[in-house]
Amino acid sequence: MSPRGRLHPSRPEPLRVRARRLPPPRERLIHIAREGDTWDLLGRRYGVFDRHLQAWNKDQIGWTLEPGERVSVWIEPMIHDAARNEGPAAGRAALIPAGAHSLGTPQSGRLVAGVQVPPGEGYERRYPNSTWGTTFAVRHLVLTLDEFRQTSGYLGTLMLGSMSFRRGGRIGPHVSHQAGRDIDIRLPVRAGFPASQPATHKHLDWDATWKLILAFARSGAVQVIFLDYAVQRELVHRARRNGVSEPQLRELFQFPAGRHANRGLVRHSPGHEGHIHVRYACGPFEPTCGD
Ligand SMILES: [Zn+2]
Repeated sequence: MSPRGRLHPSRPEPLRVRARRLPPPRERLIHIAREGDTWDLLGRRYGVFDRHLQAWNKDQIGWTLEPGERVSVWIEPMIHDAARNEGPAAGRAALIPAGAHSLGTPQSGRLVAGVQVPPGEGYERRYPNSTWGTTFAVRHLVLTLDEFRQTSGYLGTLMLGSMSFRRGGRIGPHVSHQAGRDIDIRLPVRAGFPASQPATHKHLDWDATWKLILAFARSGAVQVIFLDYAVQRELVHRARRNGVSEPQLRELFQFPAGRHANRGLVRHSPGHEGHIHVRYACGPFEPTCGD
C-alpha cells in the first residue's frame, strides 16, 4: 500500500481533480457475486476501477471473488445511471459498453473502465493498446467512422493513431490523450499512397478530408479538432469554390482569423499537417470529466 493509501484506498478516495460540475456524493451499493464475475468485469459494469473495488472489499472477502459474496460498490450515481441506461446508440455503437468515463483533464487525467475502439471496415487501428476511450467518445467515433465510410465515397483506409491507454495517463510524447477523449487520425490520402506512412498536405485527398471534418463536426460531440493553419487555408479555399457558405466556414474553421484566434471548431496546432487530432467533449454523464 502506498503511504497515503491512494493506490488501495479503504474508502472511496476524494476527488483530486478539478471537476467541471460538482460531482454528487458516492453511494454504496451491494452486488451479489455470480459465477464468472471478476473484479475487472464488475468495475466495468459499475464504472469504477477494479483495484478500488478490491480495496473496498478486502477486509470482508479478501482479494479473490467467490459466487455469493456480497461486494460493496461505491458508485457515482450519475455514472451508474449512464452505465445502466445505455442511452441512444445506433448501429455498432450500441455494442460499445457503457460506463467508461474521464477522470480529470486530457492533459493530466485518467480513464475509468475504458472501452476499446473495435476493429471495423474502412479504418485500421495502428496502436490497439492505446485505442481506448470513454463510452461517449468511442460510440461517437464509431458512428462517425461508419457514416464517413458509407457516404463519403472514399475507398482508402483511415489510419487511427493513438487515443488513450486503457486506464489513461501519459502516452509517450503526447501532452494530452490522457483521459480517453483525444484521438489522432491520419487524413484521407490519395489512392496509391502507402497505408502506414505519415502523410503531408501533398498527399491528401481534399474532398474526403473535407467530408471527414464535416462528419466529425456534425456529430455534435466534438469539442475541438486540431489541424495546421495552412491546411485549413487550403480546405477553406476549396470549400468556397464548391459553394460552401461563409457562415458555415466561420463556424468550422479558425482560418482566416489567425492561428491564435479563438474561433471555429478546427484550431491550429503545429505538427498536425497530415493528421487531425479530434478531442471529444465530456459526456453528459461524466461529472468527473474536466476541461
Ligand atoms: Zn494528438
